Amino acid sequence: MKCTLCPRQCGADRSLQPGFCGLGEEILIARIAPHLWEEPPISGSHGTGAVFFSGCTLRCVYCQNGDISHRNEGRPFTPRELSDALKRLTDLGVHTLSFITGTPFVPRILEALELWHPPLPLVWNTSGYETVDTLRRLEGVIDVYLPDLKHFSARAGRLCAAAPDYFAVTSAAIKEMCRQTGAPVYDENGIMLRGTLVRHLILPGFTSESLRLLTWVRDELPAGVPVSLMRQYIPCNDVSVPGLDRRITEKEYSRVRDHMIALDLPGFLQEPDSADRDFIPLFNRDESFV
Ligand code: SF4
Repeated sequence: MKCTLCPRQCGADRSLQPGFCGLGEEILIARIAPHLWEEPPISGSHGTGAVFFSGCTLRCVYCQNGDISHRNEGRPFTPRELSDALKRLTDLGVHTLSFITGTPFVPRILEALELWHPPLPLVWNTSGYETVDTLRRLEGVIDVYLPDLKHFSARAGRLCAAAPDYFAVTSAAIKEMCRQTGAPVYDENGIMLRGTLVRHLILPGFTSESLRLLTWVRDELPAGVPVSLMRQYIPCNDVSVPGLDRRITEKEYSRVRDHMIALDLPGFLQEPDSADRDFIPLFNRDESFV
């Protein structure tokens, strides 16, 4: 069957050969473990049970997790094995369960959740580059959307991810996510039970893009949608785009942060010491799996 799960719409028959994402039909996973470093409403004090799927449909040149997003490292899982892993994560006392870049596996993830539906908020952690059709398959299943919002101009989308349509596609996708979840709902510990939380990673030399994206959030998304402003950019993955070979400066960060404050957007500002390779999880080792 031709795959049209993501906006690449490459139409590959993945039972015969991989598509743009490099993935066949089988679920591939690089890490299943509690993860403490997401935003407080996702990780809380005990962490989110994070499932890092291998592969990515966006594949930004600067990806901080290139071993899994570009090189598809990971181990095969059946829906039953994924379902069993979700139970083990839940038994560890995590607050939420996170599916990270799961788009190429949506039908199989839904199979796993039909075998056992966890009693925790389910989080869809995504590059934001999603089709509305695929998101509609997740409606009523996913409780919390955690999309990135990365590039505003077609030029940046093309340079950074060979996706000049990134903003057109992602802005429509995030509006669909907000439609599905409504306004954020939190429990007594501040864990998000339902809602959409938009992430933005500041890129060196691209702060004008950041300002335009934040203004779009204020103008186009429902009031109260939180934004997580991330400053963790580290040159990774042998990035070839000129200018992306450095960290962001304090001045660049302040410019974007001040704009977010001026817009009165609710959300989170990342700590300065987060731009460290120690925060990149270990993938595809025996200890990477609960
Ligand atoms: S998920 Fe992969 S195979 Fe399917 S349309 Fe996207 S890139 Fe192509």
